[in-house]
Amino acid sequence: MQTPVTIIGAGLGGLTLARVLHVHGIPATVYEAEPSPTARTQGGMLDIHDYNGQLALQAAGLMDAFRGLILEGREATRVLAWDGTVLLDQPDDGTGGRPEVLRGELRKLLIDSLPAGTVRWGHKVSSVRALGDGRHEVTFANGTTVVTRLLVGADGAWSRVRPLLSNATPEYVGTSFIETYLFDADTRHPASAKAVGGGAMAALVPGGKGIQAHRESGGTLHTYVALTQPKEWFAGIDFTDSATATARIAQEFTGWAPELTALITDGDTPPVLRPINTLPIGHRWDRVPGVTLLGDAAHLTRPNGEGANLAMYDGAELGKAIAAHPGDVEAALTAYEEALFIRSAEAAIEATRDFGLCFDDNAPHGLISLLTGNA
Ligand SMILES: Cc1cc2nc3c(=O)[nH]c(=O)nc-3n(C[C@H](O)[C@H](O)[C@H](O)COP(=O)(O)OP(=O)(O)OC[C@H]3O[C@@H](n4cnc5c(N)ncnc54)[C@H](O)[C@@H]3O)c2cc1C
Repeated sequence: MQTPVTIIGAGLGGLTLARVLHVHGIPATVYEAEPSPTARTQGGMLDIHDYNGQLALQAAGLMDAFRGLILEGREATRVLAWDGTVLLDQPDDGTGGRPEVLRGELRKLLIDSLPAGTVRWGHKVSSVRALGDGRHEVTFANGTTVVTRLLVGADGAWSRVRPLLSNATPEYVGTSFIETYLFDADTRHPASAKAVGGGAMAALVPGGKGIQAHRESGGTLHTYVALTQPKEWFAGIDFTDSATATARIAQEFTGWAPELTALITDGDTPPVLRPINTLPIGHRWDRVPGVTLLGDAAHLTRPNGEGANLAMYDGAELGKAIAAHPGDVEAALTAYEEALFIRSAEAAIEATRDFGLCFDDNAPHGLISLLTGNA
């Protein structure tokens, strides 16, 4: 007899778990804070790796559908100097093993692969408490509650489930990204579109500062501006006043090539601040009956292109472990967590190294070494 699974969070990790459970005939319900699948634009390109994200999609039986989402040519990579000089230009020759898809399309693929009603939208967890004997009661902000024998926190960086297992909380790493978009760039911003090229572009300088952009579908350029400043510095900028916030961020890039600064100043969307936080490297917990974590809730790290892939891989591994131990939740969670802790500690060390190489005082040479396999 299989225990129904209660999953908190309909991000890529929680949805992959629900799908792999469904493939194995195990019932699951996903409770998601957002009111609907389209409540928030799921911006951003994700490269899905053949050693984790793609394995998860295979376990989910969705590889063929995934191939239909791939945006060809987006694995091209360029590194520019602050004045626009091209330092590295790697075309997409189709051998990278990291095809790019839009996060929103991948999420929709997973949602559509689940039986209707699996995801309960508008269910924001406000508290969770242990009832003993491996059972937990989840209370939602809408006043409803559920009791479950198998609870999975797939609710991201600020997980409400995590405190059942660990006292760890995310800490600011000292760098934030500011997100902007330019639409129809090939016609409206040709110089910026040319600078970004067919895939990803990064222009980084010492001091943890830079402009990174990615070409999405339809000539959309998605930019993450990196600035290494304390939280208080950002708190002094009113991000509800787009024009002033944009001008203040652009001021940090005075003298840079106009095709690069236009990615900030010509933004078609208000700039969005994304502080980078992490859980401690090697974050783990002692086994607590009836509950576990996956994805960012378990191992939030510096972004290095692995986080979504790891969340999906966790979801698939947990789903397979539950299927492999019918009627024995604790055996399933023990097997899953033993591998999870090793995998996520290694990934966090690598992410810290990669982030350091990109944003240290040797920039942009660390990134170039990474991309050319010389790091
Ligand atoms: C700037 C930036 C760039 C990144 N770029 C990449 C990249 O290129 N490639 C890559 O692989 N990774 C990237 N990542 C990392 C990646 O976004 C995360 O690692 C990944 O989204 C984690 O997936 P998840 O399912 O664990 O959590 P999430 O995607 O955060 O999903 C959690 C879900 O839980 C819901 N939720 C939260 N709280 C509650 C609650 N109380 N009740 C109910 N629901 C709740 C949320 O609404 C959300 O839907 C990037 C991260 C950042 C910050």
